Amino acid sequence: MIAAADFNITKIERSKLTDINLENIPFGKYFTDYMLEADFEDGEWRNVEIKPYQPLLLEPSLAAIHYGQAIFEGIKAYKNEAGEVQIFRPLDNYKRFNISAVRMQMPEVPEHLFMEGMRTLINLDRNWVPNKPDHSLYIRPFMFSSDEMIGVRPSEKYKFMIILSPTGPYYATPMRIYVEEQYVRAVPGGVGYAKAAGNYGAAMYATAEAKKKGYDQVLWTDAFEHKYVQECGTMNVFFIIGNKAITPGLESGTILAGVTRDSVIQVLKDLGLTVEERSLNIDEIIEAHKAGELKEVFGTGTAATISLIKELRYKDYTMEFDVNSWTTAPSVKQRMNDIRYGKVADTHGWMQKI
Ligand SMILES: *Cc1c(COP(=O)(O)O)cnc(C)c1O
Repeated sequence: MIAAADFNITKIERSKLTDINLENIPFGKYFTDYMLEADFEDGEWRNVEIKPYQPLLLEPSLAAIHYGQAIFEGIKAYKNEAGEVQIFRPLDNYKRFNISAVRMQMPEVPEHLFMEGMRTLINLDRNWVPNKPDHSLYIRPFMFSSDEMIGVRPSEKYKFMIILSPTGPYYATPMRIYVEEQYVRAVPGGVGYAKAAGNYGAAMYATAEAKKKGYDQVLWTDAFEHKYVQECGTMNVFFIIGNKAITPGLESGTILAGVTRDSVIQVLKDLGLTVEERSLNIDEIIEAHKAGELKEVFGTGTAATISLIKELRYKDYTMEFDVNSWTTAPSVKQRMNDIRYGKVADTHGWMQKI
């Protein structure tokens, strides 16, 4: 069992922060002064260290590089006007991390290591949390197999780490989306519901092909009929049809259960909308569009919160939207931001003080 005292902290000599302007920094490019590192060996977690952010020394035979046991999470911390740092729903990410771990035949991470480790780390790097509108600290916990041995089997050793990256506003311009009918992201029985590194690698070719055709992202459809919509790139997807919000349900195991997705469902309900989580056929979307009932389409995820979709292309049929006339997506985004920066009451208990 890991106790608080087991967070072995090595202090930095000098903060890198003096060299970096936290305003408008690009996503994922700068990392804070500290990182957390822990090893799973002989059936237990040990060597829990918080130390200066630094390169890893790894053998070329590292199992993760060859066989892809690698998972991650993405979480954000915000500074409110009072200067308090709060993390958005980290326990949900912790639970999802272990769901991913189980699916990838990796050891689960104890709650104390993940949650207290994250809090201790952020506390040390507290000055790195920007206190500007639309800025935040992106938290990246991850785990990979670390056996130095290329025999095919689940690794016996694993490394769990957390790194932190301050991030500026994500100027998500409205996207043009290509409905994908050839390549698939996830199948029932597969790993679509896990935040596994390989899911990202496997999606890049189809995304690049869509970009060649002039689109920003693909809308993934089911593997059998290429009809039922799943996710938009690496975001969950919502359709406002009539006065209802519809998002694909999680039951087939092909969809990543986004924390933003879950929060947006709640906020939509708070705003008085009916939300349906169910399978959604592209034909139903097209019919709604033809009937003038398809009002808004948007993706949700931690990086951008909400990304508006201004064009959706299925075969030869193009659906275009005037995103400036939308009301629902902007209201949801505003409400989410108000909760995160402490401007309205956090009625759902989403913010965790550190
Ligand atoms: C991370 C991720 C999401 C969004 O999840 P959030 O918890 O909202 O950030 C959606 N789809 C995929 C495939 C993802 O990897």
